[in-house]
Amino acid sequence: MTARATVLFDIDGTLVRRTGPQHRLALVEAIRLVTGVETTTDGIPVHGMLDPDILRLMMDAAGVSGDMGVIVAAAQEIYDDIVPSNLRDKVCPGVLDLLERLRGNTSLALVTGNLSRIGRRKLERAGIGHFFPFGAFGEMAPTRGGLARLAIEHIGAEGPITLIGDAPQDVLAARENGIRSIAVRTGVTPPGELEACEPDYILDDLTQLLADHLE
Ligand SMILES: [Mg+2]
Repeated sequence: MTARATVLFDIDGTLVRRTGPQHRLALVEAIRLVTGVETTTDGIPVHGMLDPDILRLMMDAAGVSGDMGVIVAAAQEIYDDIVPSNLRDKVCPGVLDLLERLRGNTSLALVTGNLSRIGRRKLERAGIGHFFPFGAFGEMAPTRGGLARLAIEHIGAEGPITLIGDAPQDVLAARENGIRSIAVRTGVTPPGELEACEPDYILDDLTQLLADHLE
């Protein structure tokens, strides 16, 4: 008998995309609430970054400091209030079929830069949150590689482990943990950048994922 496979999923650009400005707004509003200072995500390469790192860069750019724990808590509360009620049409192609196919015989987990309640709420509104009993979220480790390690340890994975994501940082996080990486072109990574970081597979979207890719 082969050991049960584990598949770790990024959220933005991988499971869902174009989920609206509410996530960015929650970060901006949280900093304003706690520090009184107006900041922006403009000019910050948020794609593939962890939310706490984005918050840090926003505050550095405005020359402001604040208690990160308080700001992180505020951002999650604010997102709760403004998250769109229905994000089901934002689920990336092939995702729903794939999750249905994997749920019985594969351990599934999230590895995402989203703060936990933001990521949870987003997937809940997209109708796919229930597939993921465990998630490693942005505030749980300092790097994406650390988040992947957290998920792997939590699951106690013994079989093949794959991380699926849309950004170079996802591929690097997989490499740091010695696990397989699958890059999908459903995010906003410019052409060529995924090839450059040499994931094990690159797919246009998750309709192309085959069982062979995960073994
Ligand atoms: Mg992503």
